[in-house]
Amino acid sequence: MADQPSDLFRVTLLGTGAPPPLLDRFGPSTLVEAGREKFIFDAGRGAMQRLYQLGIPCADITGVFLTHHHSDHVVGFVDLWLTGWIGRPWGMRKTPLRVWGPDGTKQMMEHLPKAFHVDIRVRSHHYPPEGVKLEADGINEGMVYDRNGVRIFAFEVDHGGEDLPAFGYRINYRGHSAVLSGDTTFNENLIRHAAGTDLLVHEVTAAAGAAAENKQQLKRISSNHTTPDQAGIVFSRVQAKLAVYNHLLLFGGAKAEDLIPATRANYAGPLVVGEDLMAIDIGNTVEVALPKQN
Ligand SMILES: [Zn+2]
Ligand SMILES: [Zn+2]
Repeated sequence: MADQPSDLFRVTLLGTGAPPPLLDRFGPSTLVEAGREKFIFDAGRGAMQRLYQLGIPCADITGVFLTHHHSDHVVGFVDLWLTGWIGRPWGMRKTPLRVWGPDGTKQMMEHLPKAFHVDIRVRSHHYPPEGVKLEADGINEGMVYDRNGVRIFAFEVDHGGEDLPAFGYRINYRGHSAVLSGDTTFNENLIRHAAGTDLLVHEVTAAAGAAAENKQQLKRISSNHTTPDQAGIVFSRVQAKLAVYNHLLLFGGAKAEDLIPATRANYAGPLVVGEDLMAIDIGNTVEVALPKQN
């Protein structure tokens, strides 16, 4: 039975926050399990702790995909990489960690071992030297992974223009699919690539109070991120079986509980506000499991 493909297709939100160091919303990071493969999309602050809460050893991660290089999406990477190597609390990584991402990814992965040169040199006496290696690929729009029945496609999104290359990802497995928006403003290319998906995990930003009066700030935010009314248009055009908000970027006292009402102007379908450790199982139905607490 070992070779039997597994039906498991689960998206777990490891972190649903944005830059502020909140304790209940860690930095952006999403685990996707498809059969025997496990991928992490972005490695924000605390991705390692959330993985530990799930009981999943870092050594079991097939690889890491980055949506873009804003620091809040990568500051947890070093922890996954190096703590995963020495296998605390379980399972040393014995093979190189694979990383995919936009322009700049290879450069970052070439420089990180230099920054941690002393630690790597010393610990290589006791830990498998192959396990600390990073194998990075810069990617373009299109299929970026095809193995064990899992196909992953990167598509360009708009996170403030060409100066900041940014991708969303679509993961296809056993006739079903999940789409992760990454960071983006309202984007036609995302809508195109998300067509027919079962699950759409989408970023969101909202402002309230004085922040909602600051026109200049609002303009800047909405050129990089998606407001609930814009997201409502995306959701109503994509018609996923479930839409989930993550990467909650809230200004001026805007509240998570106001996001769904603000989306309803343009979308009446299934929608939940993500929480850290919320898991979504994808099959003939798309089901949310309550956040797991170990
Ligand atoms: Zn972000
Ligand atoms: Zn960003």
